[in-house]
Amino acid sequence: DELRGEIAPDARPRQVPGCTYSRINPTPVADPHLLAWSADLGEFLGLAQPAERGPTVDALAGNLVTGSMKPFAARYAGHQFGNWAGQLGDGRAISLGELPATDGSSWELQLKGAGPTPYSRRADGRAVLRSSIREFLCSEAMHYLGVPTTRALSLAGTGDVVVRDMFYDGNPRAEPGAIVCRVAPTFVRFGNFQMMAAAGELDNLRALADYVITHFYPELGTPSAEVYVKWYEEICRRTALMVAHWMSVGFVHGVMNTDNMSILGLTIDYGPYGWLEPYDLAWTPNTTDFGHRRYAFGQQPQVALWNLARLAEALALLVPNIEQLRPGLDLYKATFERTRQEILLNKLGLTPSSAEADSKLTESLLEALATSEVDMTMFFRQLSHTAPTLLAAPKQEHDRLQELLAAAAYTPLPNPTHTPLLDWLRRYLPRLSQETSTPEAIKTSMLAANPKYVLRNYIAQKAIEAAEKGDLTYLQTLLEVLKKPFDEQPEHEELAAKRPDWAWDMPGCATLSCSS
Ligand code: AMP
Ligand code: MG
Ligand code: MG
Repeated sequence: DELRGEIAPDARPRQVPGCTYSRINPTPVADPHLLAWSADLGEFLGLAQPAERGPTVDALAGNLVTGSMKPFAARYAGHQFGNWAGQLGDGRAISLGELPATDGSSWELQLKGAGPTPYSRRADGRAVLRSSIREFLCSEAMHYLGVPTTRALSLAGTGDVVVRDMFYDGNPRAEPGAIVCRVAPTFVRFGNFQMMAAAGELDNLRALADYVITHFYPELGTPSAEVYVKWYEEICRRTALMVAHWMSVGFVHGVMNTDNMSILGLTIDYGPYGWLEPYDLAWTPNTTDFGHRRYAFGQQPQVALWNLARLAEALALLVPNIEQLRPGLDLYKATFERTRQEILLNKLGLTPSSAEADSKLTESLLEALATSEVDMTMFFRQLSHTAPTLLAAPKQEHDRLQELLAAAAYTPLPNPTHTPLLDWLRRYLPRLSQETSTPEAIKTSMLAANPKYVLRNYIAQKAIEAAEKGDLTYLQTLLEVLKKPFDEQPEHEELAAKRPDWAWDMPGCATLSCSS
């Protein structure tokens, strides 16, 4: 009814000059049913967990548009893999509107896979269950790890099939469709500003900037040229915090195009992401990026900087001189370096002392990890147990370090590749012994800084395979376990196990493509 009197929404793929978004309703699906629900987020939003079928799930799958919803798809552009791609936009994501949470804050609800929009280009506007499970689980896992991220409220099955060429082998596969309801203060990206700037739509550019500042950066005050500069610096600062967190948990986004960079510094768009197993700067799960490895783990800090420079070019139209935005990039670099070091020292149970000696220690650790092919998550977790114990009982050093390596290594022991790491451990332990806290207190703080449970690639794949067969228990258990990533959960040891041999080269476990 809300649409009466407006121009009928039109999902034909097209350029939409002059618009910041397009009004478009989700396309109904055959059989909306709830597959997973993020209870804490629901509670925060004042929403009770709905039954498997019914009006709430209908709304979460796009079949029910109530009078208070104003569904829309945003218009944005972007640089994809370094190349300008022109208008992209929400090709399969449709925002329903905003919902006030129990604390009065406002949250945008967006359905991913809700059907075609003017921005769908040649694609179908849908998402498969496989990729939707990955987005749902990882959004929530990242949140509980303390990484800035968009959230996921629900995962709904559609009852429709979606056809995808999963292995790029020319054999399309019919897969179950699904819709994730994503939640964030806003889903505005760098690319929204790039779109307006590229199209020369200065009024739209300024209107969107003013909207984002007044709603999401109110502390900066009334928008003006000076405020735009400060705002850009704040975006740079937040982006640095986000990437520093990624690097500290071993998260590889996989497709850091400028249209996938949130203007709030949140991790957004969980596609071909992955989690480091062996610590490897060159690793990426994204098969589309195997040639250049532009978005590999170790590239992420540089790429974020590059993306911020592209944002500066767009925002330059709002300030007298683009040079005024340069300090933002410097702030990014400084914030990233500082935060990364703070997090690393914290992971090692160390309070900062000599900055120079401390950076030597952390730099040499990262070098040693890269040569040793040890599992990143397992190494830091085991270290949290082992190192404080050794402070209390230093005589057991040899045996305890061998156990640590055996737990974390992917290569058989003994192995010369582990020498740098063993050498590093023998330099680190005396440094740790200078800490004034008790070994028990050090252990507690290290365990709170080094997660036991991350969304390991093969574990996500197991949850997908079970769900595709109709078994949701693995997915549900995993979600519960990932809510307490720093806790020992002895009944779920298997969800913390490093990657088994069988998962080494399996698609879905190690390699993923961009669009699914
Ligand atoms: P991504 O690589 O996921 O960031 O997507 C890049 C662009 O492709 C965005 O504009 C998406 O909305 C669009 N896109 C991805 N998958 C689909 C799909 N199945 N249908 C329509 N548009 C899509
Ligand atoms: Mg995207
Ligand atoms: Mg995507």
